[in-house]
Amino acid sequence: MAAPRLRSDVVAVDVAVVGAGLSGLTAALHLEAQGARVQVIEARERVGGRVHSMRRVGHRQEAGGAYIGAGYRRVIAAAGRFGVELVDVTPMLAFFREQELVLDGELIRQSEWPDHPRNPFPGEDRALMPWTCHRVLAARENPLSSPGEWLDPRFAEHDVPVHDWLSSLGFGEAAIRLGYGMNPAFGDDARGVSALLAFFRAAFQVAQRRLAPEGVLGYTARDGVQRIPEAMAGALGSEVHLGRTVTAIACGRRGAEVRCADGAVYSARHVVCSLPFGALRGVAIDPPFAGRQADAVCGLGSQPVTQVYFAHRSRFWERDGYRPSMFTNGPAGMVAASRNGEDPAEVTSFTAWVMGRNARRLDALPETEAGRVVCEAIEAVRPAARGQLEFLGLRAWGRDPLARGGWAWFRPGEVNRFAAGMSRPHGPLHLCGEHLARTSRGMEGAMESGERAAREILAA
Ligand SMILES: Cc1cc2nc3c(=O)[nH]c(=O)nc-3n(C[C@H](O)[C@H](O)[C@H](O)COP(=O)(O)OP(=O)(O)OC[C@H]3O[C@@H](n4cnc5c(N)ncnc54)[C@H](O)[C@@H]3O)c2cc1C
Repeated sequence: MAAPRLRSDVVAVDVAVVGAGLSGLTAALHLEAQGARVQVIEARERVGGRVHSMRRVGHRQEAGGAYIGAGYRRVIAAAGRFGVELVDVTPMLAFFREQELVLDGELIRQSEWPDHPRNPFPGEDRALMPWTCHRVLAARENPLSSPGEWLDPRFAEHDVPVHDWLSSLGFGEAAIRLGYGMNPAFGDDARGVSALLAFFRAAFQVAQRRLAPEGVLGYTARDGVQRIPEAMAGALGSEVHLGRTVTAIACGRRGAEVRCADGAVYSARHVVCSLPFGALRGVAIDPPFAGRQADAVCGLGSQPVTQVYFAHRSRFWERDGYRPSMFTNGPAGMVAASRNGEDPAEVTSFTAWVMGRNARRLDALPETEAGRVVCEAIEAVRPAARGQLEFLGLRAWGRDPLARGGWAWFRPGEVNRFAAGMSRPHGPLHLCGEHLARTSRGMEGAMESGERAAREILAA
């Protein structure tokens, strides 16, 4: 392609970065530090993407990334460098483990579970609560000794359904349904998700514990995690162009042209695209991706996650004697008592985390109707909560066209088919985002991938 003749309305830069989440901002800062002229383009009217701090009932509420692992080297360094104060959440996490189990409307205390007639887990694993079961097993049985090994062909044989792996440990169908399928964080059920992803996550958690300072489990940011991407954006030489939805990226041998819905055009020698694949599917890439990379962009899953927020009118849990939080196999998913005030013992509001199939069902309803469904599901198991919850709103990440889900996950076989090659540069177009992280997960993974994309460009 000949070098494009620049019209006066075309912004010319060395690197155009599409998306102002943690991954895109990390890439932009790294490239700027090496002297590149960089412009970040963002569709929303705010930076941060899936890091989104809101105010609810007088307290901060995180709608996206909230927990900063004590070993998140990059996130912690960025907070320190840009003056964002971190708060140790270890005291709060102790309360987070305190939740009751709800199976088909029956409330079961954690202490009752090991001997409960509905407990289908084999042998000593009867002591495991369903929400920790597959995580504990993945850590105990992990063939990976470091997180990056999930992409090593030596471990390709583990890219099988979680169902088959659990079955090989002596888990029957009922135990697998309960041990994996309750409000699952990846996919809909154990048959549809790769065990290698579970091992990757478990290896990442072990690596995190090794990096953590003694006695510290994690952090959050005092004034909201979104302060971190905001501070990163503020440190850039050029302000992020907000409210610009990228619709097309044309790649040539000498560079690329990025087009936006409002008619803005950017000409760049390189483009970093940090969009989750679900959002990238809406962008016309010329020439199109090919082969397995195209399959990955079209097919990689991202978990439907819907958070439903409630204020409480009274401490109803003191009347029924159960803990305020509960993990259900019904439409309310995991109902977590938020503790976003200064005192970790104080319940400030409630958030129902609804994932997978149940999230898709909720997302098909109008918001107030979805709020009513979740509220009624809670009231049905806890009569003491009747009339005590006020629906404040919800955040449906699966319905958000700029995210199309909370985080990426892999079906059986997809780690082998997609993971290693899907972040390959496409001419001048470089890809990053949490879904393309190789050794880390979540916010730390997003930053890792941004660093990698910047390194690719600097090497080119
Ligand atoms: C509910 C929830 C809870 C989470 N909890 C945690 C947690 O506790 N700890 C943790 O480590 N991680 C957590 N995560 C994950 C973490 O938030 C993400 O991994 C990380 O923020 C992703 O960053 P990213 O840069 O890859 O993507 P994003 O933040 O999604 O950035 C992509 C950006 O691209 C923009 N964009 C999309 N389409 C276009 C377009 N066409 N044109 C221009 N811009 C576009 C988007 O608006 C967005 O700003 C959570 C996520 C969710 C949803």
